[in-house]
Amino acid sequence: MLNLDSLRFPRHALPSALEDLRREVRAFLADALVPYSAVVRSNTWDGFDPEFSRKLGARGWLGMALPKQYGGHERSALERYVVVEETLAAGAPVGFHWIADRQSGPVIARYGTDEQKRRIIPGIANGEICFCIGMSEPNSGSDLASVRSRAERVADGWCVNGTKIWTTNAHRADYMIALLRTDSGGESKHRGLSQFLIDLKHTKGITARPIRDLTGRGHFNEVVFQDALLPADALLGTEGEGWKQATAELAFERSGPERYLSCFLLLSRLVDEVRDHASPATLAKIGAEVAWAATLRNMSLAVAGMLNEGIDPGLQAAIVKDLGCQFEQRLPGLAQELVALEPTLAGSGSDYQQVLGNLTQLAPSFSLRGGTLEILRGIIARGLGVR
Ligand SMILES: Cc1cc2nc3c(=O)[nH]c(=O)nc-3n(C[C@H](O)[C@H](O)[C@H](O)COP(=O)(O)OP(=O)(O)OC[C@H]3O[C@@H](n4cnc5c(N)ncnc54)[C@H](O)[C@@H]3O)c2cc1C
Repeated sequence: MLNLDSLRFPRHALPSALEDLRREVRAFLADALVPYSAVVRSNTWDGFDPEFSRKLGARGWLGMALPKQYGGHERSALERYVVVEETLAAGAPVGFHWIADRQSGPVIARYGTDEQKRRIIPGIANGEICFCIGMSEPNSGSDLASVRSRAERVADGWCVNGTKIWTTNAHRADYMIALLRTDSGGESKHRGLSQFLIDLKHTKGITARPIRDLTGRGHFNEVVFQDALLPADALLGTEGEGWKQATAELAFERSGPERYLSCFLLLSRLVDEVRDHASPATLAKIGAEVAWAATLRNMSLAVAGMLNEGIDPGLQAAIVKDLGCQFEQRLPGLAQELVALEPTLAGSGSDYQQVLGNLTQLAPSFSLRGGTLEILRGIIARGLGVR
């Protein structure tokens, strides 16, 4: 039966005290982003620049909600939200630290050993460590629990064999958190999975081959493990509890403002393009999208507030990602409809045309990364009690 009680987005205005932080971040970005072209900025969380990440780390804006004891800053999820929102809206190149700050750090803080936390969290908070997510495999994307890559116990640790795919930044990351099979699981494929913290720079037997996307960039990879030997302390959390841990990781992955801000730069450039000669029909269409952006922001803030209070936002995060993807995938088409300028490839045409060209090529992937819309709708149906 449909259970609408669970469909609540508790209103969560950001405390006004956070406006000082917002102003500070904006002032920093106004200066720090001068060297980056509009098209580079339109890559938002795909933009990769270790130097920029270190600058954010030096300001205390990474690992913000991680424990102080291990090098984090123990600030609230809402303070982190402000920094993430501002950096994305401005198109800052956050890709180097993105995965580490968003999900690997929180997962290590929750499940890691004391030694793992001491070793890794300071580097995440300083913007010095890049992480990647080793979940998807050929034939195990949506059906994640069917992963076949396996880690077998050997004398001094674990021996890993198998293939991961679509692994963003694996060719340049320091670590991967991988979901691997440590046991057949018997009748349930959700059993027998474990997470591992894999040092990609110092482990033999791992090959990352970049896969090119529509823009020609090779940011994700196929990663092959051939008898890769991991030390015993590479196990992250509890053996056999990988499914529960990976699901918690996905909640971090699906809950942020990035799920509707991928095309925000295009929306603001579109407003600039039509500012002086917009027809009433154009204004109405742009106004409708701005209303979507404002509504999605409130919903996304509700998710951040729930996380801050330790409430599981799985259902709400899936709804924000579903609606957010529809919004951001619509914008490149709307921009072409409203302004008679063709999208162009990087390096030719105006800034606006290059941003439009880049986002037109990237947009189809928005509804795949982090779980497809069909899978999210299954989560929503389950959350509402109809599945
Ligand atoms: C830009 C980008 C970056 C990514 N980065 C990473 C990463 O860093 N690490 C990582 O592990 N993965 C990453 N992925 C992989 C991503 O998580 C998977 O592509 C996604 O989960 C879908 O899996 P799949 O590609 O195997 O498609 P499939 O699971 O084969 O799905 C194909 C189609 O079938 C539909 N479908 C599948 N099952 C069902 C069902 N039960 N009911 C209804 N419809 C269904 C899907 O919705 C989809 O439309 C990335 C993907 C992209 C596009």
